[in-house]
Amino acid sequence: MKIKRALISVSDKTGVIEFAKKLHAAGVDIISTGGTMKTLKEAGIPVTYVSEVTGFPEIMDGRVKTLNPYIHGGILAIRDNAEHVEAMKKHNITGIDMVVVNLYPFRQTIAKPGVELAEAIENIDIGGPAMIRAAAKNFKYVTVVVNPARYDEIAAELTSDAGITDGLRMSLAKEAFGHTAEYDACINQYLAKELGEGNFPNTVHMTLEKVQDLRYGENPHQNAAFYREAHSPIGVANAKQLHGKELSFNNIVDIESAYNIVAEFKDPAVAIIKHTNPCGAGIGATISEAYTKAYEADPLSAFGGIVALNRTVDKATAQQISEIFIEVVIAPAFDKESLEILTAKKNIRLLTLPLPELGGSRMDMKKVAGGMLLQDADTLEAKREEMQVVSKRQPTEEEWRQAMFAWKIVKHVKSNAIVVAGNDQTYGVGAGQMNRVGSAAIALEQAGEKAKGAVLASDAFLPFRDSVDTAAKAGITLVIQTGGSIRDQESIDAANEHGITMIFTGRRHFKH
Ligand code: 5GP
Repeated sequence: MKIKRALISVSDKTGVIEFAKKLHAAGVDIISTGGTMKTLKEAGIPVTYVSEVTGFPEIMDGRVKTLNPYIHGGILAIRDNAEHVEAMKKHNITGIDMVVVNLYPFRQTIAKPGVELAEAIENIDIGGPAMIRAAAKNFKYVTVVVNPARYDEIAAELTSDAGITDGLRMSLAKEAFGHTAEYDACINQYLAKELGEGNFPNTVHMTLEKVQDLRYGENPHQNAAFYREAHSPIGVANAKQLHGKELSFNNIVDIESAYNIVAEFKDPAVAIIKHTNPCGAGIGATISEAYTKAYEADPLSAFGGIVALNRTVDKATAQQISEIFIEVVIAPAFDKESLEILTAKKNIRLLTLPLPELGGSRMDMKKVAGGMLLQDADTLEAKREEMQVVSKRQPTEEEWRQAMFAWKIVKHVKSNAIVVAGNDQTYGVGAGQMNRVGSAAIALEQAGEKAKGAVLASDAFLPFRDSVDTAAKAGITLVIQTGGSIRDQESIDAANEHGITMIFTGRRHFKH
């Protein structure tokens, strides 16, 4: 489809001069609204003012500029429908073959601190979406452009013999309806906030953009793709991959888990993840020491794991990582030497991402068939001053350190979760069992001899004294748990009988 006449009316003027020049060079007549016309004319591009086409001035502070039959008739006419052609002739309407419009910057306006409702409302574009939707509806004849990133692709087809192809026009129309839908969703969300509906409004309209198709989902017979929340700068969807094969579905889920763990710590920390649970985690004076602790916690399980670090990866750590097969390494950065070592391995994936903010107000969603659960993400910071020692025996300073370490890790283990830890590293992790004493048994068995003098953390309250008895028998000297069971006293009694320390956190960290 050849373009004879184009209407350009853009708020985001990125690349518009270059594009308009190409249109002009291809012999296209350009119509424009006030601000856009000024920009183009200053660049020496001949433009017809929209008022000359409509015979009507821009009125009401620009609320009515292009809302006119000379414009909308020109866009919407079906070019090979005799009645439509007749109507164009009778009313002196000339066809508009291309509409280049992007909308008033509503999102940017409401992002400004202290913005008033009136200002926000003035930034609701009316004529723009009308033109975009008209052109998109009539994509069989009209090319609609809402995204400056596509100017080059369109310009390339402009001068070809066939002009703009059917496929490109349809693809642009699809993008256009996405653009107006997202725009209205943003207004909807803003008004919901103004109405006090808060973080959980009555309706949620989300725009998700595809990051990439995935080879498959959790299992090879499941198709899958990865999406990013539009305009969200945070999270794994924004990680930068420096090296290695495409990420898999399970990699992405594990990376999320791993990175949230290391974000818990101010000290250098490393977590190694298998099937969303940490098989090992450790902190140290250096990131290399933290890696040693995390790896030695469970070398068998670490094979094929996902490694997260909260510091720049250095040479020493890279050498350690390269000694076994690791699927993914994610960190805030890699230094030059570490990259040389790790990129020598073909099968390792290397990613960078700023650490997630602890205590931040992120949202967490879980899809269920026919609906979705939305909640605040569990970004709660562990605070020692909010915890309570309920046993006769008081923790030593070192035991406090280990208790806090274990508590921060157990938060990220699937429930029922038990973590046994000491010496700044996990000794045993009991994940996802249907009863708590079962998780405790797994964690303690894995810890073995190391359980002697170690701490045990439980992600929720201990419903019976059995876990305390089991822990004490294995040599545990401190139990940190939520507290709040009707049988709390039985657990406290058990701790006192065994002469071990018990801390209540008052917080629960179920994870499913
Ligand atoms: P300009 O900077 O060219 O004066 O204005 C461009 C903006 O005006 C574009 O974002 C376009 O969507 C918007 N626009 C075009 N026609 C109308 C109209 O009739 N009413 C309103 N409210 N906005 C319009």
